[in-house]
Amino acid sequence: MKDLNIYFHIPYCKAKCRFCSFYVIPGRKSRLEEYFKALQKEIVDHKHTLQNYNIRTIYVGGGTPSLVDSPYVVEVINTIKSNFNIDSFCEISIETNPETITLEKIEDYLSVGVNRISIGLQSTDDQILKFMGRLYTFDEFKERYEIVKNSAISNINLDLIFGIPGLTLELWQQTLEKTIELEPKHISTYSLEIDPDSIFGYLEKRGRFKRMDDNLDRKMYKLSKKVLNNSEFFQYEISNFAANGYECKHNLNIWKGQDYIGFGASSHSRINNMRYNNINSLEKYIDLINTGQSPKENISELSTNDLLNERIILNLRTNRGINLDQINSEFDSEITSNLNSNIDGLLQQKLIKIEKNYLSLTSKGQDLENYVNLQLVNI
Ligand code: SF4
Repeated sequence: MKDLNIYFHIPYCKAKCRFCSFYVIPGRKSRLEEYFKALQKEIVDHKHTLQNYNIRTIYVGGGTPSLVDSPYVVEVINTIKSNFNIDSFCEISIETNPETITLEKIEDYLSVGVNRISIGLQSTDDQILKFMGRLYTFDEFKERYEIVKNSAISNINLDLIFGIPGLTLELWQQTLEKTIELEPKHISTYSLEIDPDSIFGYLEKRGRFKRMDDNLDRKMYKLSKKVLNNSEFFQYEISNFAANGYECKHNLNIWKGQDYIGFGASSHSRINNMRYNNINSLEKYIDLINTGQSPKENISELSTNDLLNERIILNLRTNRGINLDQINSEFDSEITSNLNSNIDGLLQQKLIKIEKNYLSLTSKGQDLENYVNLQLVNI
């Protein structure tokens, strides 16, 4: 049996955050019933094609999955469980936003085997939260957080964002410290990215938004590593820190190169050397599924070269890095020549290190990840 990781997408959000570039439906939960019916149908339609897979993880993402009534989520997870082979240690994660968390929802998630909760905290500073378009204060967050903390789900992730205009190094340090005090098991810290399709992107085009200076952004990243590594969290990926044994299996499996399949509008898949995404429109997704057509688009078959490049880029994100023995035995020497011939130069520049035949980024290399990727992939 091959390993497989499942993602399903719930596109609804209360309002669009100003930094967000995901496919979301803000405000009204339009065609909710129909969407969930289509989602279930898409999953059941894969019953036979996925029989030879062992489902290692299930990830409920969005959007804001916790915005919809929990029975919808429960039903989809039950559908997955009853149609596929679920690994006995399957990690089942759900993304939530603080203001939508209730005791009833958490109990429902638990009843269906959810064992990891990710909460979008983003900041502990009320002004920054407001600036980003978040809908809660830090005190309100803490009230909802208590509900999760007092539940049987111990595996909690908190997401944070740095690089936001107005954020200082002192404020970022306080944010990290206050987050650590909450005793989650996992913390993700992302640098703010300005997507042209986000509200910040729109404001930037009109000269009404100024990005943070790159040097200060990198200082914040270094501070995250210092503060988190000095507490019980260890860095296992560029943006992710976990207490021992609490790495996110879903992401880790994908970074290691395992297959994943996405269900729902705008979800992405990479399975059987094929890559595709589902259509980026809730309306069209529902209509295609209801008329027995495929919602897949941008379907491409991955060449050996694509597979190698993807493996290099994904493996390099992790602190463990690239298993050179494995790569050199799996792929032809012709296509790994770029990788192997550029190693010495990158070692001299102190951008990579090799330990027990695993090639990984140094701290300096993490700041220049794109440059290192370009040196190692086969173009
Ligand atoms: S950041 Fe999250 S909560 Fe905000 S609009 Fe995007 S998906 Fe929704």
